[in-house]
Order: sequence, then structure tokens, then C-alpha cells
Amino acid sequence: MEQQVKLSYIKAGKIAAQSLEFGKGLIKKDAVIADVLDKIEKKIEELGGKPAFPAQVSLDHVAAHFCPDEGDNSAFGESLANLDVGVHVDGYIGDNACTVDLTGKYGNLVKASNEALEAALKVVKEGVTLGEIGRAIHSEITKYGYSPVRNLSGHGLGHYKQHEPPSIPNFDTGDTEKIEKGMVFAIEPFASTGSGIVQDSGEATVYMLAQKKPVRSPIAREVLKEIESYNGLPFCRRWLTRKFGAKARLGLRELMLTESIRPYPPLADTKKGIVSQAEHSVLIGDEVLVLTKLI
Ligand code: MN
Ligand code: MN
Repeated sequence: MEQQVKLSYIKAGKIAAQSLEFGKGLIKKDAVIADVLDKIEKKIEELGGKPAFPAQVSLDHVAAHFCPDEGDNSAFGESLANLDVGVHVDGYIGDNACTVDLTGKYGNLVKASNEALEAALKVVKEGVTLGEIGRAIHSEITKYGYSPVRNLSGHGLGHYKQHEPPSIPNFDTGDTEKIEKGMVFAIEPFASTGSGIVQDSGEATVYMLAQKKPVRSPIAREVLKEIESYNGLPFCRRWLTRKFGAKARLGLRELMLTESIRPYPPLADTKKGIVSQAEHSVLIGDEVLVLTKLI
């Protein structure tokens, strides 16, 4: 790996870690979710990065992909909150997440995903198979009596690509593909009190550019131009309504109809289980560098 690329990954990881830590401290029962996410995204920019995707919080049985709309004044309340923060520096991405328990009831669930992540970090290195990493995660989570979420996984972090191979499983898939030097990827165990399978649930507010197609209305064109400035990385509706006002929704609707953008609805446990998450990004060299660990 080129030195400049490695340095960008290291910088992105460090900013992602600092922003996650900052955001974690803002999660309180009476804090407004959208305000916290705005503050985190501002922090990312202050530290010299850019959001690799909208900072997001997923509550209780939702595992991922929740971003409130502008004007949504919902507070965290008594929830289990998964905070997921991604940062890029020149397109090189650091991705990390943690869970804050505001219920006082799910300490062990949070521990299960944290310790599964630690167990995975202990085994991960050049030559280890993807299945072995999944097994380490699975055995830690089931030890606590919970289910790993099997249809969510860690993922390679490419240049302006948040998800690319390899896919790092959260259970033993028996996958014999080996970790190789030069790989950069996120490991993200989810622990659930329910089925451990998630499905689309509710309306999407997170999207990604799918393919550039001609669009007719001026607002759709303006919105598309803005979306192109994200270089193929995910974005949320709040970013666009803030910039273009409520009419951004019309633009998004047209872009959906032409399949120019793809929606990513919130993902919830099929049996309404409560879900916790932990995530770090790693770079595989002679040694394993955990990019998103605060030192
Ligand atoms: Mn993440
Ligand atoms: Mn991730």
C-alpha cells in the first residue's frame, strides 16, 4: 500500500474514533437525536475529515440506517442507542460504532457486542479465514445468551466505497477465504435479544447514488448535482432539505422513480429483539492496525 494512502486511512480512522467518542458523550435521554448527529458531523469537519456516510443512530430493535429528518425533535428517551460514525479523508474511510444503554437494562447486551469485537480483533491477522473471525464473534455473543445478527456483516473499505469485499461474517460461515496483507475492513458484530435477522422496516432517509440518468425537473437536477459531490458515498434526506428546502423531497422522489438513487431503509430485528453494535476498522500489514482505536 502506498504510504500516502495508508496515512489517509490512519487519519480517517483517528477522526472517526474522536468523533464517535465525542458523540457518545452527547447521548442523553433528553438530547435531540438530530442535534447530536449534526454536532458529530460538524466535529468531523473541524477535525479535518468528511462524513463517509451520515452519522446515524439506531434505537432498540433497529440495528442500522436510521437518520432523522430535519425538524424531527425526537429525543433519545429510554432507549438502547447504536451510534455509527464514518469518516473519509480523500476518499479513504474509517468506520466505527458503539452502543449507549439509556435503559439501564441492557448492560450485558452491550458487553456482548463489545467483547465479540475484542475477540475478533484478537484472532484477525494475515492468513486467518473469514469463517474463523465469524466463529470468534458468534461464540462470544452466544456465551451471553444472545444471537449475532447473521445478515449484517463487516466489510472492506475501498476508495469512496463504504462496502466492498471481503464480507466479514458475524457467525461461522465456514468461509475459507483468507485475510491478506493490504486489506482494510470494518468488523461489526451486532448482538440481538431476538431472531438475529434484520429486515427493512419503515421509510428510508438514507440513500446512495445508483446510476446517473437524465432527470427532468430543475430540483431533481439540482439535488442530483449535490449528490454527485458525495462521490458515490451514502447521504441522508436531512442534508438535502437543509440545503434546498422541502422541495428537495420532490427531487428525491423523482430520482427514486428513475432509479438514479437507491434507498436504504432502517433495518430492524424480525422478532423485535433489541440490538447492540460495536465496530472498528482495521488495516492488515505485518501487524494489524486498529484504525479507529483511541490511544
Ligand atoms: Mn459503521
Ligand atoms: Mn460498517
